[in-house]
Parts: sequence; structure tokens; C-alpha cells
Amino acid sequence: MTVRKSIGRFWVGVAAALAMASSAAAAPNKGVSFSIIKTGSRLSPESMLYQGGGKAKVEVVYSAILVRHDGQDFLFDTGLGARIDEQYARDMPRWKRPFFYYGKPIVPAHAQLARAGFPAVRRIVLSHSHWDHASGLVDFPGAEIWVTKPERTLIDRAGHGADSIWPSQVGGSGLAWTSIDFRSGPYRGFERSLDVYGDGTVVLVPQFGHTEGSVGMFVTTSSGRRFFFCGDTVWSAAAIDAARPKFWLAQALVDADAGSTLSQVEKMSALRKRDPGLTIVPAHDGRVQARLGYFPGWVD
Ligand SMILES: [Zn+2]
Repeated sequence: MTVRKSIGRFWVGVAAALAMASSAAAAPNKGVSFSIIKTGSRLSPESMLYQGGGKAKVEVVYSAILVRHDGQDFLFDTGLGARIDEQYARDMPRWKRPFFYYGKPIVPAHAQLARAGFPAVRRIVLSHSHWDHASGLVDFPGAEIWVTKPERTLIDRAGHGADSIWPSQVGGSGLAWTSIDFRSGPYRGFERSLDVYGDGTVVLVPQFGHTEGSVGMFVTTSSGRRFFFCGDTVWSAAAIDAARPKFWLAQALVDADAGSTLSQVEKMSALRKRDPGLTIVPAHDGRVQARLGYFPGWVD
């Protein structure tokens, strides 16, 4: 009896271990899930990320979000791509380099997906077109790239004033740009939205402020968990509940419209008050993203 019990326990343990291994390795083919592909990171004092942040260093990450809906994948942002070093050398203004840089190693989303046996992604939605979000576009030739019309106007001016949007990343003639049309009406406090699959699980909303064409993304996973990916509207989720803007210098350097950006932060703060179960995921917040886990793990 004792032996049988322990053999039984052994097999239960093996089954549990196999289940854990398969949830880390295999992407769910049914329902809605996402995986955060971390392509690089660096450390920064929290005080550089938002006003009122502490002196302790926190991890700033550069991630692509792989969203899966019944086996159809798209990327929200690309993180740092395979050619980031040459792009940086060519297009990052020298005076900005002490403020904007990344650590090594870089593991591009394209390489991580290929290594795990994923087919090439056919669609990429950009939260905005700054260098640390658009770097990997050229790694996915032929993919549709979704941006808003105002963001496309900025992209067309790349190299002529807007120095966070780089010709080496968005200037190629082979990129298939597609306009996001917010035709789905009001959604959770946003006046306009685009319900990507028509079932309310993945909804894009305009979040103009950080750039004139920034986009946020709501995702409701199969288990009913609710997330909002807010791009660079804030760099740290801690800034949201306190409704704090970025560190003043960062704000001056990166936010196209500081007033509109702060209105968006206040909007997210109100959203969280109405829905405490909503997890807001800023593009660079390593603390929030590490808690959710990285590719090849999935949130579903
Ligand atoms: Zn960014």
C-alpha cells in the first residue's frame, strides 16, 4: 500500500512536471494568450523614469509582445532587432547617446521565434515608431505593419527633424504599411477603438501624447485576465497610480506633447480605479513584465 502510494505520487509528480514543461514550451492554439519576448535590457535609477521615483536601479526592458488568437499571431512592437547596432551607429544623435542606450546581449524577437520553431510573423502593430520599438521591423520582411495615420506622417518625416524615428528602421521601400482605422466606437473611456478580431478580446485605442500617433492595446486572455499595453505613455507602472509624468528631462526629450501624455496617464489611473483587476504593462517596465514571465512562457 505504502509502495503503491509512493509510486502513485511519483507519477502525479511526473505528470505535473510534464504539464509545466508543455505550458512553457507550447503556445496555446485555442483562445487568446500572449507572450512577452524580451530582446534586451539595461538598468536605470527609478528617478529617471518618473517624477518621484526612488534612487534604486530598476530593469528597463525592450520587448516585443506576441499576441495569439486561435493560432493567429501578431507582434505588438518589435523590441531591439538583429541590426540594432548598425541602426544605432547610423541614426542615434551623438548628444543623445548618454541618455539612450541598451545593454548586451541583444536577443532579437525574430531569432527567438525561429529557434522555438515559430512561423514568421505576418503582422506587426506598433505602439509608436521610436527606435526601440521599430528596430526589428526589417527582420520580418513582407509583414504588414499597422500604424495610425498621424504616426505614418511622422514616419514619412524620419530623418528630417524627428530624430527618435530612424530611416535605417522605417525608411526601406519594402515595408508594407497599413493604417489603423479606429472604426469600432468608444471603448473603456477611449472615444475610438479598433476591435481587431471582432470579439472584444484584443482592442486597439489611440493614445496620442508620447507621439502624435501612439496606440494602446487591451487584451483579455482566455482565462478572463485583463491587460492594457500602454507603450511609452509611462515607463513605469508605478507612475500610473500616482499619476506622475516622466522625469522632466526625459519628458522634454521624448514626449511630443507632455500635456496630452499626462492626460493619458490620468486616464489610465482612472481606468485602474474602475477596474483594479486590470494589469497595465508599460513597454519598458521590467518589474511588471518579469512577473508575467517571458517567452517561451505564455499568459493565457
Ligand atoms: Zn520606448
